[in-house]
Amino acid sequence: MIKNLSSLLLIYTGGTIGMKVDPADGALKPFDFSQILSEVPEILKFACKIDVHSYNPLIDSSDVETGLWVSLVELIKENYDKYDGFVILHGTDTMAYTASAVSFMLENLSKAVVFTGSQLPIGVPRTDGRENLISAIEIASAHDENGHSIVPEVSIFFAGTLVRANRATKINAEEFSAFRSYNYPPLATAGVKIRYNHPAIHSVYDWGYGLEVSTKLDTRVSILKIHPAITESVARNVLLAEGCRAVIIETYGSGNAPSKGWFISLVQEAIAKGKIIVNKTQCLGGSVDMNIYEGGRLLLASGVVSAGDTTTEATLAKLFYLMGLYEDNDMVTKAMAKSLRGELS
Ligand code: ASP
Repeated sequence: MIKNLSSLLLIYTGGTIGMKVDPADGALKPFDFSQILSEVPEILKFACKIDVHSYNPLIDSSDVETGLWVSLVELIKENYDKYDGFVILHGTDTMAYTASAVSFMLENLSKAVVFTGSQLPIGVPRTDGRENLISAIEIASAHDENGHSIVPEVSIFFAGTLVRANRATKINAEEFSAFRSYNYPPLATAGVKIRYNHPAIHSVYDWGYGLEVSTKLDTRVSILKIHPAITESVARNVLLAEGCRAVIIETYGSGNAPSKGWFISLVQEAIAKGKIIVNKTQCLGGSVDMNIYEGGRLLLASGVVSAGDTTTEATLAKLFYLMGLYEDNDMVTKAMAKSLRGELS
């Protein structure tokens, strides 16, 4: 049987959900959280106690830095024993990056951490924020008869669907249904009832394990998107950039890139200089398989690592996390091949 837990921490970082039009210049800007609560009095009807932690300053999530990620996991760690679940309000633009990073930075998580936000501010009559917030609270507070969370992992709730955080991508700038998980099924759908997809939800190995957090991130990563007519100098500038320890190459289809000599030589030069090169397909669904075509085989033979079916957001966050953990690139590349938090099939 699913019940609601007794206490929840609602963390507000900013984003459209809490924005209002600033009459001075007409731009949407974040406002005080107390206004959100007054817009959604339904929250007070929940049987559980909800405390609010509001960031100051509130940000548009396009300004997010890893400092916010560190602060979020520290906040969850500090409050872990006090609350049964966590809801994080965050802008949609970078929600998949932040939520992916938080999923890696929290180890042995056995409580729900649900990210949500909205496409329209909560004060607007047609807002999607009210339904997103209310359902996120219900999911974060859902538990079984033993008091165990129903969704003990980091997830994103948006427009009636709950997806694993590190499988999510923002795919629409206008529609309410803004997030998709192409390579992993939804964890829950919210209609008249919230239907949990129990087989897809992370199962906790031992509920007694304590939460561990990792706050050391190495952000020396960059992304090179392959496109027709890409030039050698552009590819060189990214692949061999000073101060960059890893490069994610966004390739075509099943992981294909130009088989031209100059491109493969650049990749080999970057690897010889100690860089980690990761192959991530530009396709939203499906996986990298470097064994199929010549362009992929050349990358594989050069020592390029596959991102498999992991999203770009999660690949970036996984690299930040693993490079923060390990100085040794071999340790990083070995761990990239494993699914650490359900990000890889
Ligand atoms: N620019 C906003 C943000 O990401 C968009 C949103 O929240 O939907 O903070």
